[in-house]
Amino acid sequence: MEPVLIIGGGLTGLVAAEQLERAGTPTVVLEREATPGGACRSLSDEGYTFDYTGHLLHVARPETQAYLEELGLWRQLKVHRRRAAVVIGGHATPYPVQINTHGLDPEVRRDCLLGFVHAWADETAEEPADFRAWVLDRFGEGLADHFFFPYNSKLYRARPEELSLDWVGRYVPKPKLEEVVDGALGLHDEDVGYNATFRYPASGGISLLPNGVAGRLSCLRLEREVTGVHLGERWVELADGEQLGWRKLLSTISLPALIDRLVDPLPEEVAAARRALRWVRVLNLALGVEGPAPSTEHWLYFPDPELPFYRVGFPSNHGDLAPPGCHTVSVEASLDPGVGDVEALAAGAQSALAGAGLLEEGALRVRRVTVLDPAYVVFDHHRRQAVALLRDFLRQRGVTLAGRWAEWKYSAMEDAVLDGMRAARNLSDAG
Ligand SMILES: Cc1cc2nc3c(=O)[nH]c(=O)nc-3n(C[C@H](O)[C@H](O)[C@H](O)COP(=O)(O)OP(=O)(O)OC[C@H]3O[C@@H](n4cnc5c(N)ncnc54)[C@H](O)[C@@H]3O)c2cc1C
Repeated sequence: MEPVLIIGGGLTGLVAAEQLERAGTPTVVLEREATPGGACRSLSDEGYTFDYTGHLLHVARPETQAYLEELGLWRQLKVHRRRAAVVIGGHATPYPVQINTHGLDPEVRRDCLLGFVHAWADETAEEPADFRAWVLDRFGEGLADHFFFPYNSKLYRARPEELSLDWVGRYVPKPKLEEVVDGALGLHDEDVGYNATFRYPASGGISLLPNGVAGRLSCLRLEREVTGVHLGERWVELADGEQLGWRKLLSTISLPALIDRLVDPLPEEVAAARRALRWVRVLNLALGVEGPAPSTEHWLYFPDPELPFYRVGFPSNHGDLAPPGCHTVSVEASLDPGVGDVEALAAGAQSALAGAGLLEEGALRVRRVTVLDPAYVVFDHHRRQAVALLRDFLRQRGVTLAGRWAEWKYSAMEDAVLDGMRAARNLSDAG
């Protein structure tokens, strides 16, 4: 009997395969790379461990915890109270900035506070049409101009009015007036936001999670890149010329990558929906440096448009990732797809980091550059309709999509685990 074929051995594909195998469903996972885990991989170099980019685990659902316990991974994860800050005009203040402006320059603080009070007093029942209107309505002009607009424009490489509201609710908490006032005066210390605590492996990098799942599989085939998908006849073509048939197909690779591999001619509306998908890549400059970290924070956000990076992390502040007396740095910068000189951007990010006093270049021992592509889906006003059309087109041809990039959404590792489980339930012979 032909198997359930899974394209992609990242966290979503691995969990789906583990659940299917457990249910006795014949399954094959095809993974392009030599190691499983996709965006959740880690690499080691001269005693330093780097994640492909900062990956911290937030677990909100009991079934995720139960699953990780079952795999013996839960007890290997240490809980950390978030230490994160936002740096504006050279002044650092705790994240989230909307309730913590006390560390900022007094004039910036005044702008933020007055802007919030005006927005709070003017609150209308009208639904904002885009991210720009939403931010102004919710946080006011000062926080918009000093943080939300420059930060999100840098990350998404889009103007705030180009972004829809489909992604914001869960990730950008709305403060009360008292919290904002207390935060301007430095009076409260309560954590706000979806990620006030996180878990991270006590030793080794985040690849602990995918490796823990992959270790249970007998159906994982590495270095098997799918180059062509024949929907009508139900078979895939691999880079080495091998052909494999399927009974059911689960794709966890990015939605545009899947569409680009469809061999049969596409209806024009499908091709147009594919062209409408917009995303950014993320460059991660990972550094292993001698000496103590220049900051005790886990990570820092940089909205300043003059700086090439939007976030800088110090992963060895939450994991055993560097030789004794040394530290690791993870610098993230956003890039348009397919264009831009990666090495020039990495070099620019490195010198800007040194300029910001966060790197002593003479102490640099290891430097690795990785690019995640795609990294963030751009939630513009075309996304929802384009994704619905592509999903329906694929569903009618027997293809299931699961995961952050296959479903073309914004989600985290916990969602990848849950997406993998859900897909397996739908595809299992037992189900
Ligand atoms: C910058 C950034 C920071 C993040 N930080 C966090 C965080 O702190 N916490 C958190 O919980 N989540 C974070 N995430 C999200 C997290 O990475 C994802 O939710 C999760 O990795 C999704 O896993 P996936 O299996 O769906 O996709 P992927 O990891 O992309 O897996 C897809 C797999 O398909 C393979 N593949 C691609 N094309 C082919 C092909 N043609 N043939 C065969 N195989 C192929 C790839 O090699 C890959 O292994 C972050 C993501 C990014 C981009």
